[in-house]
Amino acid sequence: MAGENKLWMSGHVAEKIRAHGAETYPHECCGALLGRDSEVESQDALREVLGLFPLVNRRDDSPHNRFSVTAEDVHQADKFAQAQGLEVIGWYHSHPDHPARPSQYDRDHAWPWYSYVIVSVHNGAPQDMTSWRLSDDREEFSPEGIEIRHGAAV
Ligand SMILES: [Zn+2]
Repeated sequence: MAGENKLWMSGHVAEKIRAHGAETYPHECCGALLGRDSEVESQDALREVLGLFPLVNRRDDSPHNRFSVTAEDVHQADKFAQAQGLEVIGWYHSHPDHPARPSQYDRDHAWPWYSYVIVSVHNGAPQDMTSWRLSDDREEFSPEGIEIRHGAAV
């Protein structure tokens, strides 16, 4: 995949991710990103988040620094997305009192193709939000730009 990846989302969706992170603080929040990804190669960003599917963080051993998505979560998220004519294009989670950068754990547990959005929550207040994509050979977990779409989107 050449060029720089971009992830589009409405301001409303971005706000919902931040709010979820604040709500579960000091624990991590997590959920699925639902949207569309066009296969057409062009200059324009064609991956867009149009909705969310919040998940329960099942890691009760260390819920503040790692999240896990189970096969059942994936199944539920897929079902929910399909019912709306969307697909699961990624996953989001929060980093309470840590920067919005993937941990080694995040990288080890990521799947190629999906977008991984991380929101940093400091003292309960949402801060930076970043997105990452793992290369097909799992060698690189690279940042992708988050573009906020104002106006038109739902
Ligand atoms: Zn993480």
